[in-house]
Amino acid sequence: MSKRYLIRTYGCQMNEHDSERIAGLLEADGLTPASSIDDADVVVLNTCCIRENADNKLYGHLGALKALKDDRPELEIVVGGCLAQKDRDLIQERAGHVDVVLGTHNVHRAAELLARARVDGPITEIWEEALDDADAFPSALPAKREVPYAAWVTIQIGCDNACAFCIVPSVRGREISRPFGELVAEVERLAADGVIEITLLGQNVNSYGRDLTTALRSDAPSPVDRARAGDAWAIDPARRPRPLFADLLDAVSTVDGIRRVRYTSPHPKDLRGGTIDAMARNRAVSPHLHLPLQSGSDRVLAAMHRGYTADRYLAKLAAARAAIDDLAVTTDIIVGFPGETDEDFARTLEVVAAAEYDSAYTFIYSPRSGTEAADLVDQYVDPAVVAERFERLRIVVERSALAKHEARIGLTEEVVVEGPSKRDPLVTSGRTGQNKLVHFRADRVLRPGTVAEVHVTGAGPHFLRGDLLAVTAAPRHRTRIPVAAG
Ligand code: SAM
Ligand code: SF4
Repeated sequence: MSKRYLIRTYGCQMNEHDSERIAGLLEADGLTPASSIDDADVVVLNTCCIRENADNKLYGHLGALKALKDDRPELEIVVGGCLAQKDRDLIQERAGHVDVVLGTHNVHRAAELLARARVDGPITEIWEEALDDADAFPSALPAKREVPYAAWVTIQIGCDNACAFCIVPSVRGREISRPFGELVAEVERLAADGVIEITLLGQNVNSYGRDLTTALRSDAPSPVDRARAGDAWAIDPARRPRPLFADLLDAVSTVDGIRRVRYTSPHPKDLRGGTIDAMARNRAVSPHLHLPLQSGSDRVLAAMHRGYTADRYLAKLAAARAAIDDLAVTTDIIVGFPGETDEDFARTLEVVAAAEYDSAYTFIYSPRSGTEAADLVDQYVDPAVVAERFERLRIVVERSALAKHEARIGLTEEVVVEGPSKRDPLVTSGRTGQNKLVHFRADRVLRPGTVAEVHVTGAGPHFLRGDLLAVTAAPRHRTRIPVAAG
């Protein structure tokens, strides 16, 4: 019988996508998905290190796996992802029962390293950077997609910014864009495979292509340089600055079969009119902008090195709302950045109220060693004060989220079905174009990927409720056995 694997994923969509790729590699090596940890022969923990509790969680899970491995010594344990890239040898020092530790730049080596560990014993292999494009991008190799109708597409890896709180640049490396033509070809392949929804992934999608176009600024760019950057930009005499993200939105949203294009995240400092225009003119691009604010205080934003002020942020938001019909806006906010005063936080509450978000991910600042802010120990904010601010922020965010959702009662939404609701299998769940979760009653079982019209009848701060009106399109993909990842 073939060996079985189970992948647990922590953190962001990039990690989820890396996990799909690891699943693809393991399946190419003959493994099949396990239904639970008890029937897994290989357990992969794909880690995150953005906040401290992720570290604690990993070492907690590894402790639990030790007991399992004591019972079943043949169990193989792999730790990958950002925390592995950061902690390196420390993981096997703290957890000697881990067989393979691999970083963010050598995900493609998962199956090979496991095979080597079976012969040579525990291995830690961390690369400083990817050796070539094919290995660098999780989307460049076959992956085992978690859902058949939707796919992640990594357009860029790494980050060239230096936000004072953030560890991403040190664990994901410098910014590298995937060649334009390759991305469009990838989306065409996905569409041919029945995918109707894609999410373009990058830490700062609006700087997509900065590295690709640099070569084209020379007097005699080579045909290869032109192909890497895409013809739309290469033949444009205006040579717009950092132009490629808008071109990419145009190109992928006109691929036959692609109904929804999402992306995350644009950095507010780099969000340009071209991107807003491309969102406005392409019906397939979802009317949803995730624009991380982080703080509403100009003083804190400057200390974070975010490169914008609250007013500039709100002006960009207003421009986006004016240009894009029925735009939903979401954000990320950090509470308790070192030195944040009551006054700074009051500004955050004001900006959050003014921005009228549809939802927000709110985080308590977590010092990450090696980042600039982590050294500001004497300015750390009292945890009790942070907890109280966090709660006040939650209330302001929920108030605007609920108002936004209640305003949709009575509307008809186009919903892509995810499947039965987790809480009640008689209820179906799906997502609207604005990426809102909708729970609705249907008189029949709807397969994931079905497109339906739903009449909205109720709302909470985190979801809509409704009734099925009609099915408008059946899933385009062939039915496959679902993958258990995570
Ligand atoms: N590249 C995106 C951007 O610039 O907005 C953010 C990527 S990061 C993976 C996701 C979110 O985690 C950030 O927007 C920030 O709010 C949060 N985050 C990052 N580092 C953090 C830290 N040290 N403590 C708390 N939250 C943090
Ligand atoms: Fe981190 Fe800033 Fe880069 Fe986002 S833009 S990944 S917050 S350094």
